[in-house]
Amino acid sequence: MKFHVMTLFPEVIDQSLNYSILKRARENGIIEIDAVNIRDYTENKHLRVDDYPYGGGAGMVMQAQPVVDCYRSIREKAGKDLRVIYLTPWGKVFNQQMARELAKEEELVLLCGHYEGIDERALDMIATDFVSIGDYVLTGGEMPAVIMIDCISRLVDNVLGNESSSEDESFSDNLLEYPQYTRPYDFEGHKVPDILMSGDHAKVAAYRKQCSIERTKKFRPDLLEKVKIEK
Ligand code: SAM
Repeated sequence: MKFHVMTLFPEVIDQSLNYSILKRARENGIIEIDAVNIRDYTENKHLRVDDYPYGGGAGMVMQAQPVVDCYRSIREKAGKDLRVIYLTPWGKVFNQQMARELAKEEELVLLCGHYEGIDERALDMIATDFVSIGDYVLTGGEMPAVIMIDCISRLVDNVLGNESSSEDESFSDNLLEYPQYTRPYDFEGHKVPDILMSGDHAKVAAYRKQCSIERTKKFRPDLLEKVKIEK
């Protein structure tokens, strides 16, 4: 899967996604991350990419021209129109289900805003989706892009070593994950629940399911409501 990230800070994208599992996936060519500097496309001789907002107000707005030309160059290389996701606090809130849907794409463009955002005309011309990573405001779209790429990539075949390890996790079935334990059996007097030592797979599965339900009730009762509605 290939991610094109349109940004004023390509180094943030490159460095933040260059360790551990994703580094290996990039080295193996399973995922490709192409961080493109929007500033390289400005026609302004001082390399400016922002200006004051029409109508007044605080802050600066990213201009349409460098953003649109940056996308055109990506599209030309790809040889086709691409899905362009603008990261924005007013977008649809990202979740695991959206990640699963996006992981089916072969190529995605993530557009990172900065300052007060991007001239609406550029968004009208190139953006196909509008996504937020939560109800708060960040300085730029780089961290949201990194979060989305991390989450989507681990759903792409062969990125995780063990194929099944993304199946049982929090948010599959709208439940949170059950508690996990590893050696030693007894840590400072705190023992692993005996049922996990029983070797009875059916009992272990039932116990874990119960733990997931309890945890979801405690921390995210809204997810259980969703299950009811979907049924
Ligand atoms: N003035 C904008 C507003 O009120 O909606 C906020 C602009 S924010 C300071 C600058 C950029 O950060 C945005 O264009 C967007 O790309 C990114 N950003 C900030 N918060 C975000 C969030 N919660 N999810 C996704 N992107 C976000």
